[in-house]
Amino acid sequence: MNKNIAYVSITEWNRKVMRWIWISIGLVIFIEILLFLFYQPVPECSKREYLDIFVIRPSIMIVMYAGCMELIFRFFGEALGEYVTTILFLLIQFLLLGTVAAVHSSVPYMCMILTYPVIFANVYREKIFRYAAFAACILVYAGINYGFIPSTEFRPDNSREVYLVIFVGFTIVAFSFSKVLTSVVVNFEKENRKIYEENQKIHEEKEKILEISQRDSMTGLYNHKMFYDKLNEHLQLCSEECPVSLVIIDIDNFKRINDTFGHAMGDNVILKIVSIIEKNVTDKDVAARYGGEEFGLILAGKTEMEAYNVSERIRREVENAEVDGVTGRITISLGMLEVKPGDKNGILLFKEVDSALYEAKQTGKNKTVCRGWRKGDNNEYSYQNFSSSQ
Ligand code: GH3
Ligand code: MG
Ligand code: MG
Repeated sequence: MNKNIAYVSITEWNRKVMRWIWISIGLVIFIEILLFLFYQPVPECSKREYLDIFVIRPSIMIVMYAGCMELIFRFFGEALGEYVTTILFLLIQFLLLGTVAAVHSSVPYMCMILTYPVIFANVYREKIFRYAAFAACILVYAGINYGFIPSTEFRPDNSREVYLVIFVGFTIVAFSFSKVLTSVVVNFEKENRKIYEENQKIHEEKEKILEISQRDSMTGLYNHKMFYDKLNEHLQLCSEECPVSLVIIDIDNFKRINDTFGHAMGDNVILKIVSIIEKNVTDKDVAARYGGEEFGLILAGKTEMEAYNVSERIRREVENAEVDGVTGRITISLGMLEVKPGDKNGILLFKEVDSALYEAKQTGKNKTVCRGWRKGDNNEYSYQNFSSSQ
C-alpha cells in the first residue's frame, strides 16, 4: 500500500481532518444554539422540542461519533493500521454528517454536506478510499431520501435570510476545506523542491568525492588506480579501427634534482612536466600520475607513429623547459607501444611498456623507446623494440 498522500502520511492527513471536524462540530453546535434562541422553524414545534430534536440529540450523537474516532486514533490507530483506521474514519464521517443531514433533511441542499468526505478522500492515493467515500455519500443520501434513515418531519417555512445563512455556512465549510487541501498541495510542492535541492546537493557532493577519489591531489591528473581502470576500459574498446597507444614517463635523475634543489623545487619540476603533458594530450586521452615522478598516458585513437610523435614532442618540450630555481636540463625517459588489438591484459601490457622505459634508462635516458608489434617467424605477432630516438 502506498502510505503517502502528497507529503503527509495518511495518519497525518486523518489527524488534520479530525482536527477540522472538531472545529466544525463546535461551529455547528454554536449555530444550532443560536437558531434555538432566535429562530422558530415551524409554529407547531415547541422550544423544548426544538432543543431536543435539533440541538441536544444531534449534538450528543456527533460528539459521540467524533469522540469514538478520536479514541480510535489515540489508542487503536497503530494496532489497526492505517488502512482499517481510514475506513473507520470515513464511516464515522458519514455517520456524523448523515446525522446532521438527516436532522435537517427538510432544509434544501443540506445533504450536500455529505460530499465533504468525498472531497477529503480525494487526497488519498488509494483509490479504494475515494470510491468508498463516493459510494457512502450516495448510499447515505439515498437512505435519508427514501426514509431508511430517520429524519425530522418538520417542514419549516424558511425565509430567504435563513437560506442565505445556510448557504454562507456551506461556503465557509467549502472554503476552509479548500484551504486545508491547498496547504497540502503547497507543502507538497515545497517539500518536493526541498527534496530536489537536497538530491542535487548530494549528487554534486558525490561527484566531488568521486572526482577527489580519482585524482592525484598535487597535479590533478588521474591517480594510480584510475590509470589501470582507464587502461582496462580502453583495452576493451581497442580495435584496428580504433587504435590505442600506451606511454609511460619517468623523470631522469630526479633524486639528484631533489637533493640539489630541495623537495619543493622537485615538486615544481613535476608540475612543469605535468603542464607540458596536459598541453600535448586531448580530452579523449588519459593522463595519470601513477607513481611519484612517473606518469602514464593512454592515447585514444593514436597509432604507434602518432603516439611516438606525441611522446617525442613532450620529451623535447621538457628538455627545453625552465623551472625557476632549477639549473641544468630537466629530462624525461619514455616507454611506449601501440596496443595490439586483442591484447586485453593491462598488467602484461604495462610490463611490456615498462621494459621499454627501462631500456630507455639503460641506453642513455632522455629518449623514447617504442615497442611495436611485428609478425615473427612463427606467424604470430609479438612486441619488439623497433625504434628509439634522442
Ligand atoms: P632515474 O633517472 O633512473 O629515474 O633516477 P631517479 O633519480 O629519477 O630515480 P627514481 O625514478 O627512482 O626517483 C624516484 C624519486 O622521486 C624518489 C623520490 O624522492 C622522488 N619523488 C617521488 N615523488 C615525489 C614528489 O612528489 N615530489 C618530489 N619532490 N620528489 C618525489
Ligand atoms: Mg621512478
Ligand atoms: Mg626517475
